[in-house]
Amino acid sequence: MFNLNQTEKISALSNAVTAGWDMSDMMERRVALSQCRVFFDFDHTISNIDVVDDMIERFSVDQQWRVLEQQWQNGVIGSEDCLRGQMRSVRATREQLTEYLSEIEIDAYFHRILVLLKKSGVRPLITSDSFNFLIETILKSNDVHGIRILANHLRIRGNRLTPLFPYKNLACLRCANCKTSHLRNEDSLGKVLIYVGDGRSDYCASLQAHLVFAKDSLAAHLRQKGKKFVEYRNLQDVYKALKGLTHE
Ligand SMILES: [Mg+2]
Repeated sequence: MFNLNQTEKISALSNAVTAGWDMSDMMERRVALSQCRVFFDFDHTISNIDVVDDMIERFSVDQQWRVLEQQWQNGVIGSEDCLRGQMRSVRATREQLTEYLSEIEIDAYFHRILVLLKKSGVRPLITSDSFNFLIETILKSNDVHGIRILANHLRIRGNRLTPLFPYKNLACLRCANCKTSHLRNEDSLGKVLIYVGDGRSDYCASLQAHLVFAKDSLAAHLRQKGKKFVEYRNLQDVYKALKGLTHE
């Protein structure tokens, strides 16, 4: 595919984005890891648990968050309204949050994936409907540094948390952080887009990627949409697949 002219390449890529590729398609097209851009969801993709859900459950002063969670799962409200409402019930200081977050573990293979990507000159991105403070604190305590994070922001004053949404798409209320816009960013032009995710906040963006690693509800969603994907259990599976693209 990389011997095609620009028009043919764009046409082939948009077809691929619709239908998706699996690993045999990647091999057939001789895609090298260095030609890719790799996007990771965070909660329950890199972290071993869904951190936002766990944090809200732990620090909420009432049960209103459960109602909002159900409404979001059912598609009644978007994630911005859901997160705003849920954060209103949370009472936690920066120190309490840091102590809690420092105990959360990430998939051990994320380190190995980062080394692999670095060797191929690929800068990974984390796109998440969680909050940068949460993700940064967890990564730091797991000795991961310098990775670009595109997530919602959190203002912490005393024990009250206020969410801020710098990446929302005003034309679409589904997600607080529009991951699709990150995949469509001009840095992605001419790159093969790889997406790794697990859940509802990954539904739209994964449809824009050439190769998707999916599990849980994301896998079910893509199956229903008829888009090819690679099913994974953990990041060891993703590491092994990406290593196959390094042609070592
Ligand atoms: Mg997730």
